[in-house]
Amino acid sequence: MNVPEMFGSMVFNDYVMREMLPKKVYQSLKNTMVEGKALDDDVADIVAAAMKEWAVGKGATHFTHWFQPMTGITAEKHDSFLTVDKNGCVIMDFSGKELTKGEPDASSFPSGGLRATFEARGYTAWDPTSYAFIKDDTLCIPTAFCSYTGQILDKKTPLLRSMDAISREAVRTLALLGKHVRRVNATIGAEQEYFLIDKNDYSKRLDLRLTGRTLIGAPAAKGQEMEDHYFGSIRPRVKAFMADLDEELWKLGITSKTEHNEVAPCQHEMAPIFDNANKATDSNQLTMEMMKKVAEKHGFACLLHEKPFEGINGSGKHNNWALSTDEGENLLDPGKTPKDNAQFLLFLTAVIKAVDEYQDLLRISVASAGNDHRLGANEAPPAIVSIFVGDELGAVIDSIIDGTPFTDRASSHLDIGTGVLPKLARDNSDRNRTSPFAFTGNKFEFRMPGSSFNIACTNVMLNTAVADALKAFCDELEGADDFNPALKALIKRELEKHRRILFNGNGYSKEWEEEAERRGLSNYKRTPDALVHYCDEKNVELFRRHKVYTKEEMESRLEISLDEYQKAIHIEAATMIEMLRRQIMPASLRFSSSLASSAKTKESIGISADAERALCMKVSSLCNELMLRTENLDRCISESPEGTEAAAFYAADKIIPAMEAARKASDSLEAISDKEFWPVPTYSEILFYV
Ligand code: ADP
Ligand code: MG
Repeated sequence: MNVPEMFGSMVFNDYVMREMLPKKVYQSLKNTMVEGKALDDDVADIVAAAMKEWAVGKGATHFTHWFQPMTGITAEKHDSFLTVDKNGCVIMDFSGKELTKGEPDASSFPSGGLRATFEARGYTAWDPTSYAFIKDDTLCIPTAFCSYTGQILDKKTPLLRSMDAISREAVRTLALLGKHVRRVNATIGAEQEYFLIDKNDYSKRLDLRLTGRTLIGAPAAKGQEMEDHYFGSIRPRVKAFMADLDEELWKLGITSKTEHNEVAPCQHEMAPIFDNANKATDSNQLTMEMMKKVAEKHGFACLLHEKPFEGINGSGKHNNWALSTDEGENLLDPGKTPKDNAQFLLFLTAVIKAVDEYQDLLRISVASAGNDHRLGANEAPPAIVSIFVGDELGAVIDSIIDGTPFTDRASSHLDIGTGVLPKLARDNSDRNRTSPFAFTGNKFEFRMPGSSFNIACTNVMLNTAVADALKAFCDELEGADDFNPALKALIKRELEKHRRILFNGNGYSKEWEEEAERRGLSNYKRTPDALVHYCDEKNVELFRRHKVYTKEEMESRLEISLDEYQKAIHIEAATMIEMLRRQIMPASLRFSSSLASSAKTKESIGISADAERALCMKVSSLCNELMLRTENLDRCISESPEGTEAAAFYAADKIIPAMEAARKASDSLEAISDKEFWPVPTYSEILFYV
């Protein structure tokens, strides 16, 4: 296999553009890509023609505007290139207009009240900063999705806006330090966790099929306690899947780099090489899609849910984040000279300030019914946002705040701008797995996002919050009479002010929860608890200031998120009821009746049937309990109040506990039932398949 040749072979990338476009057109497109300049119609026509020629040459027959509506998954509507020309001949055609603008019927996508259904029109606009690619014989054009009145209906547009905001403020900050660059990009490496299970088991479980997770299931005799799966040798069948997945991703220009087993049985991870936030988001969306598709080919089902199985680890997505100039300098790299250090410390301080001031937004960006099972469940970061900087950098920060000597170094104390930072060890991200937001040498790793999330939202929050901190710094420093002392004073003051967000200890401990409360950090345990703070005034002001969202756009997003949450819980509850009524209860009744007849037969010939009797009584009593709890759950759903916010809180307060109670009865039954009678594959069958 020739990897370099295969890599990106299905992408209309820079190399192809340079080959196929006239020099002037290429340059004009490049300017659009780097500086966000508008594209001329003539240029669009030429680009479209080249794209079509390239795509048809690769066997493509259709094209689609590929976009990310607020459902979180990607959407596409295919059109063929086929056109009939003036002479009645069939030709393959694709115009600049078709490339730059599409008009999907928007009425079936959530808009949170932004777009009345009678005004169903929405349009998609080409995003030339992410490359077009071919998937399933279709040329896919990454696009942004808006309503006709200009309000945004997708996840990509705010991401692009937030990238512009952070670029603007970071370029300004660097200029203060005497460095002039054109653009600063947020760079992202999204590590993706997932489960692979046998397709046969998956097909037999309604809960996995409809909700992505098991709603019932007694624990297997073996879980992850032996810790023998993490980095363990990969089964040949899984290895074949990974090789195939790599190949598919490479063709799409996605730099799948590392594949390994994760902590839980059947759990794996893929890490790509980082890219700018926009491309990394598109790539991650495609990665999830490909994982599902390739799994199917190998007789697997790929589970991207945050918590497919109770009692073993769920799946997350680590969002590695840094800032890079158009010349490739990483602004979160501590560097080797005092000048670099001042720059590093200023950007570090901006991140610390941003995460402290907008901790609620970061928590909100990872809130979902699925992720609620992870956060704070002793396997993933807690629901409290805090930053881990490690001991060395922690000591540096202490010395700056307290003005005390920096003890690791013989030479006096660390003076910003003159002292050289100690060489910080490239931190292994495993060093503190309990931290939600960890500095790992030259980037931050945000570990709260759930495995099924579109990472756009998290990065919108992060980019905008950091942009805001940098803006405040620039506003202050640009007016300073004496720059160096002003810079030092600002860093010291801001670190001191936001010191409370720094925490190097065990994030899973009860003590931290209490300590965090004393420090005034927020701790929103459940999705609705977090979501209701989305439109707090300071947040609305933040996004307005940086032109990322209008207030109406935020209100619509809040509405959609609350609705999505309560719907997810309702679907789970309804699925559970169906399984309990139509599978678990009938099977358990059959089992108890077989015990009863066995007891009767044995006793009729004078043999004692104490075991059958005892077991039958146990099963019968659990069946009664199951019956009551199922009916209770059903009643509970039917009493759900009107209004999305009320319904969301009701789901969290009432429906989830009712589901947990019903599950308990079912799992107790499973633990004592004859395997032959149990109607669905069990945890041990699914997780330890042969
Ligand atoms: P670790 O094993 O310590 O987590 P890696 O350096 O392999 O470390 O990084 C994990 C992920 O972080 C990868 O996806 C990688 O591409 C990404 N990453 C590395 N450097 C950066 C950076 N500057 N910006 C964003 N992501 C990065
Ligand atoms: Mg990691």
